[in-house]
Amino acid sequence: MKYNKIFKKVNSELANFENLGNVASYIPELCNVNPSKFGVHLTTIANKHFNFGDADEKFSIQSIAKVLSLTLAYKIEGENLWQRVGVEPSGTPFNSLIQLEHDLGIPRNPLINAGALVICDILITHLTNPKEELITFIRKVSGIPTIDYCSRIADSEKSVGYKNAALINLMKSFGNINNDIDVVLDFYFNLCSIEMTCKELSQTFLFLANYGVCPFSKEIILSRSKSKRINAIMQLCGFYDEAGDFSFKVGLPGKSGVGGGIVAIHPNKYCIAVWSPKLNEKGNSNKGIKFLELFTSETEVSIF
Ligand code: GLU
Repeated sequence: MKYNKIFKKVNSELANFENLGNVASYIPELCNVNPSKFGVHLTTIANKHFNFGDADEKFSIQSIAKVLSLTLAYKIEGENLWQRVGVEPSGTPFNSLIQLEHDLGIPRNPLINAGALVICDILITHLTNPKEELITFIRKVSGIPTIDYCSRIADSEKSVGYKNAALINLMKSFGNINNDIDVVLDFYFNLCSIEMTCKELSQTFLFLANYGVCPFSKEIILSRSKSKRINAIMQLCGFYDEAGDFSFKVGLPGKSGVGGGIVAIHPNKYCIAVWSPKLNEKGNSNKGIKFLELFTSETEVSIF
């Protein structure tokens, strides 16, 4: 498969998309990124690599990291996890408070901010050094020992984290947060601050394309069933109130972040990561989504 050729062709068709959307501005540090960056990297489960553009430049993966914290919590807690967080699409923005009151403090899914905060709370309960143990886990999954948090981004988000503070306070009032609120928020902001390149991202998520097994080390990260379930959650909940649209147009499970990154999985084939910092009104990468739509149209292969 000549993926590099397809990347070039699709990119040339997207000249009009360069100017659309805005870089996330509610986190001050994210405004400092060059809005015209664009990178894509595809890694196959046979360890073949294809890329285009700024694929080796690090960016803030933001909410994409929520899949990795979920993976670790699911490994530790098993099916008990679902007593604290649901698996239904929210149909609301990533930081919405609206459903929490109605649902008595149980977030609709682990990929919206409220759900990710509950996952952080669960990890803090189980781990002795949550930040160190999470990053060690991510380095193991990716096989890349240099992956790290970015304290500049974490501090920047902390300085304006009013909505996330509101979400966690509301959930605490319903008894769905067990640890100190500030400790959970600090862990959450660090989780969102992790930086990766498109290449690193596509490599890190490859275990989800390979039924839970890291194709490089052959280590079982998750059971086959749990890996299927994480992909199902990404399919239904990975793009907030644009999850249906992404499924409809791209046809792959995936996850976005407000840093402009998107990761998408084709089980048994590949993991693809794209990065373009300008976001649409739903908080998802504008060019990134269009690129993936044209990519799966061009290859004529999706999970459907
Ligand atoms: N750190 C971001 C927040 O909590 C994550 C949002 C996202 O990437 O969608 O607002």
